[in-house]
Amino acid sequence: MKEYDIVIVGAGIAGLTAAIYAVRAGKSAIVLEGKMEGGQIINTINIENWPGDMRVTGVELIRKIKAQAEELGAEIDYVNVEKIVKAKDGFEIFGDMDEKFKAKAVILAMGTDPRKLSDEMMKDAGKRPVSYCATCDGALYKGKKVVVVGHGNSAEHEIKYLKGICSEVYNIHHDEKIPEDAEAIFVAIGRIPATECAKEIVEIDARGYIVAGEDCHTSCTGVFVAGDCRTKDLRQLVTAAADGAVAATEAVHFLS
Ligand SMILES: Cc1cc2nc3c(=O)[nH]c(=O)nc-3n(C[C@H](O)[C@H](O)[C@H](O)COP(=O)(O)OP(=O)(O)OC[C@H]3O[C@@H](n4cnc5c(N)ncnc54)[C@H](O)[C@@H]3O)c2cc1C
Repeated sequence: MKEYDIVIVGAGIAGLTAAIYAVRAGKSAIVLEGKMEGGQIINTINIENWPGDMRVTGVELIRKIKAQAEELGAEIDYVNVEKIVKAKDGFEIFGDMDEKFKAKAVILAMGTDPRKLSDEMMKDAGKRPVSYCATCDGALYKGKKVVVVGHGNSAEHEIKYLKGICSEVYNIHHDEKIPEDAEAIFVAIGRIPATECAKEIVEIDARGYIVAGEDCHTSCTGVFVAGDCRTKDLRQLVTAAADGAVAATEAVHFLS
C-alpha cells in the first residue's frame, strides 16, 4: 500500500491546484483521477474568464496546471476511487481495481458529472446516439439534424457549437418528445455531484454536495473538500482553484 501525507481525489482544476499547494508546503501528495485529468472544463474551447488569459482552451489550461503540479513534485495516478475509510492513524483509500493508498489527510475534489437522460427519454431516443458533449461528438453529425435537450447555460453553449456543424439544431425540454428526424441527441440538463465514494465518510446534503464552508473543512476531521462538489454558490474555475488552495493549506495545518 502506497502512503502519502495527502491523497487528493479528482484531477480537475480543484484537485490539481490542491496538489500544487500541498507539495510546495513540503508534503507528499498524490492526485487520483478516475477518467482523464482536467475534469469538466476539458471540452471547452473558449474560456474567457480565467484571469491572465483572454482566451484559453480547457485542454491548454489543464495541461499547464498538470505540468506545474508534476514539476513541483506531485504524483498523478489513474485510479477511480470507490471508497474512503477512516483508519487508526489516517485514512485508507480504495480504487475500483483493488488499488490501495494510505493518507494522513484527504482532499475530495470529485466535481460533478452530467445529469443523465430519464429512462423514458432514453426509450424515446431508441437506437439514436446520445451524447453529453457537443465538442467531443458534434463533428460526427456534420450536416445532420440533431437535438439538444436542456435550456440552461450549458445547453446554450452546446447549441451554439452545433449550429456551426449541423444542418438543423432543435432544442427541447427534458420532458418533451424527441423530434423524429433528429439523428443524434445532445444532453445538457445540468450536473450532479460525483460524491458517491465519500458518502460514508463525510456529510452530504440532500442534493449530493459535500457540506463545507469557505474553509473547506468537512464533517470528518482530516478530510477536506475543494471545488464543484462542495456546497457553494458559484461553481467556476477560479472558485475551484481557490478551494484547492484553501483545502491544501488547511490539510497542511491539520498535519502539523
Ligand atoms: C460546458 C462547460 C463550460 C464551462 N465553462 C466555464 C468557463 O468558461 N469558465 C469557468 O470559470 N467555468 C466554466 N465551467 C465550470 C468549470 O468547468 C468548473 O467549475 C470546474 O471545472 C470545476 O472543477 P473541479 O475540479 O471542482 O471539478 P471537475 O472539473 O468536475 O473535476 C473533477 C475530477 O474528479 C474526477 N473524479 C470524479 N469522481 C472520481 C473518483 N471517484 N475517483 C477519481 N476521480 C474522480 C473526475 O473524473 C474529474 O476529472 C464550465 C463547465 C462546463 C460543463
